[in-house]
Amino acid sequence: MTKRIYLIGVRYMVDCSKCGLCRAVCPVYLAVLKESSSPRGKAIFKENGKLSDLFYMCTLCGMCKKNCPIEVDLEIRKQRTQLIEAGKETEANKAMIENIRKYGNPFGKIEKGKKLKTLFCC
Ligand code: SF4
Ligand code: SF4
Repeated sequence: MTKRIYLIGVRYMVDCSKCGLCRAVCPVYLAVLKESSSPRGKAIFKENGKLSDLFYMCTLCGMCKKNCPIEVDLEIRKQRTQLIEAGKETEANKAMIENIRKYGNPFGKIEKGKKLKTLFCC
């Protein structure tokens, strides 16, 4: 596989070397024990430009980047944004987004002293 290195400002972005060191610190991988759920698995999907709902399987803890020798950034938020823009949000996400638009919080409850928002999900 060809190694790609991107120069962005003064920082380098390097493709994942597939070393697997990140697996030892990823809470999702440690719970599921599936390669596809690991940071390395997600990095492979990202490098191939594939949108996958695996990007929802992440706590955003940042441990993978912290422990990665080349600081691979999975850009999970960006991946999720693209998933939502492609209409690939999960049912849980749909409900949460609707609650935030309607109630101003993800729980679907009116906060004390606040009025129900009039902005509803489209
Ligand atoms: S993300 Fe980093 S630590 Fe994980 S496999 Fe790739 S290079 Fe190794
Ligand atoms: S940020 Fe996501 S992928 Fe990285 S270690 Fe945390 S849960 Fe795993």
